[in-house]
Amino acid sequence: MQWRKPGTNFGRREKLRIIWHTGMWLQSAVRDRKKKRAEEMGQAVIVTGMVLTAMPVGDYDRRITILTKERGRISAFARGARRPQSQLLAAANPFTFGEFELYEGKSSYTITKASVKNYFRELAADLDAASMGFYFLEFAEYYCQENNDEREMLKLLYQSMRALASGKFDRALVRAVFELRAIAIGGEGPAVFSCMGCGKKEKLIAFSVKRGGMFCEDCGKEASARRILDSTRYAMQFIIATPVERLYTFSLSAEVLLELTDILREYMLCYVRHEFKSLHIFS
Ligand SMILES: [Zn+2]
Repeated sequence: MQWRKPGTNFGRREKLRIIWHTGMWLQSAVRDRKKKRAEEMGQAVIVTGMVLTAMPVGDYDRRITILTKERGRISAFARGARRPQSQLLAAANPFTFGEFELYEGKSSYTITKASVKNYFRELAADLDAASMGFYFLEFAEYYCQENNDEREMLKLLYQSMRALASGKFDRALVRAVFELRAIAIGGEGPAVFSCMGCGKKEKLIAFSVKRGGMFCEDCGKEASARRILDSTRYAMQFIIATPVERLYTFSLSAEVLLELTDILREYMLCYVRHEFKSLHIFS
């Protein structure tokens, strides 16, 4: 055993004390940093919604917009979402539906976790269905706002994606249902339950895009409304009034679908007046 001169070197007890104090100091420094970061990031919130758009930012991140049940359309930052091992790699993409854990910062949200319920991967296998899906997302992006109650629109979006992904419905029908119901949710839907002229609820046989609704036989002539099939009128009433969960439960004959599609094309031109980029694929 060797003896050291006191004061020139630390003894065992002294070393332990230094290590212990350094450890305590490090711990409190880490705690302070975490606390500061949490203060910067604000409160954690959990929202349910569908990703509408995803844009690459920097080398590894994404900025996404989500249509949420709780806060309308929000914009969020997905840090590291483009790194191969990131938990957000698959979640921070259009069509993803699920629960997102976010931190609310001063000017935007940051996603920390995602629990995905549906990726709608079937759409990726069918280009036409995917293009239609992108059109619905673009429509919702254009129509919905932050801190607005967009629950009906989110439900419509979800059910329409399910209908597209199932492959069971004519895509023109899914589009007609989505457009008419979306316009109605936005408050610009046509009046289809009574005559725009006299208010009568029976014998509604004509429709005017310009006036935005149905007409009875007598008033229809004056308004130069177009005569439409009974089934077309009934389809419009059904699409506007049925709970969203039960919307995709019917089909239409080719003749009725053609008339409905024709009316909607005119109606969209007249009332929506917005050029959707994703629609160029269809033209
Ligand atoms: Zn009338």
